[in-house]
Amino acid sequence: MAKIIDGKELAKKIRQNLKIECDELKEKGITPKLAVIMVGDNAASKVYVKNKSKACNEIGIEYQEYILGNETTQKELLDLIKELNKKEEINGILLQSPIPTQLNINEAFKTITYSKDVDGFTPSSVGKLCIGEETFISCTPYGVMKMFEEYNIDLNGKDVVILGRSNIVGKPLIQCCLQKNATVTVCHSKTKNLKDHTKRADVIIAAIGQSKFVKEDMIKEGAVVIDVGINRSEDGKLTGDVDFENVQKKASYITPVPGGVGPMTIAMLMNNVIQATKEQYKAKNNYKLIYQYK
Ligand code: NDP
Repeated sequence: MAKIIDGKELAKKIRQNLKIECDELKEKGITPKLAVIMVGDNAASKVYVKNKSKACNEIGIEYQEYILGNETTQKELLDLIKELNKKEEINGILLQSPIPTQLNINEAFKTITYSKDVDGFTPSSVGKLCIGEETFISCTPYGVMKMFEEYNIDLNGKDVVILGRSNIVGKPLIQCCLQKNATVTVCHSKTKNLKDHTKRADVIIAAIGQSKFVKEDMIKEGAVVIDVGINRSEDGKLTGDVDFENVQKKASYITPVPGGVGPMTIAMLMNNVIQATKEQYKAKNNYKLIYQYK
């Protein structure tokens, strides 16, 4: 029977530590602030945004929501991002996806200034991650890597198979796992004989959005199984991309849904907001020092 990787508990521990860091910043007169932009009225987004606001409250991060209508134009969205880029009191900017189809989300991400890119989606963050420089890491992959760290799951030399190649989950995970010296295979909807890949994996990370897709016969004995998927069944129940009940009998470690990767994503977002605030504060003070010296 697999050991359960308790994302809820680990996320709680991370948030508690972040609260201490946030209190220390406040003692210096700095209050971290996150701006969240939501466009349209996607029901799932509303839930995610509510959870983010709750976590901010708990830690002491100020939270400001900007809700734009379904008919928002690209210019209106970019203008808002540019305005938030300029506001010194805003430390992090998050654009909640999905956004309506008339809008170009990549253009919007590109407009977010690097120092406030707490989601790690700007080309600068993605590029830095690729060349192994320290940067903001997309929150879900970052949360998954923290789970490996906490549970002493060493990826060195391991065969990691990632299911899904999205810009926000699958792709950054490739870089994160490569940095830990894993041999990485990425599967997607056009992959042939997917089971051949998953069956030889030491670690499987499922992020495809297909309820209970990963079955017991698709994994090898003792594999580590990380379930990123969040799917809602007709009765409103949340399920992951992994058939948890059966796969747990064969895996060595497994994450549940809910209570696995989800809470970690939010905790790492909070982490990125605190780190962004610190970096901005440092940069501002360095600038003052240089200025005074001149
Ligand atoms: P996307 O829809 O952007 O990407 C899905 C990926 O899965 C694509 O690469 C797609 O392939 C691939 N895929 C879809 N069906 C199959 C299949 N049958 N076999 C193989 N590959 C397949 O999703 P996201 O990456 O945004 O999200 C994935 C899941 O993770 C969703 O359930 C989402 O709700 C969840 N999620 C959870 C988070 C958390 O905090 N726990 C955070 C973010 C997402 P192709 O590229 O060929 O289309």
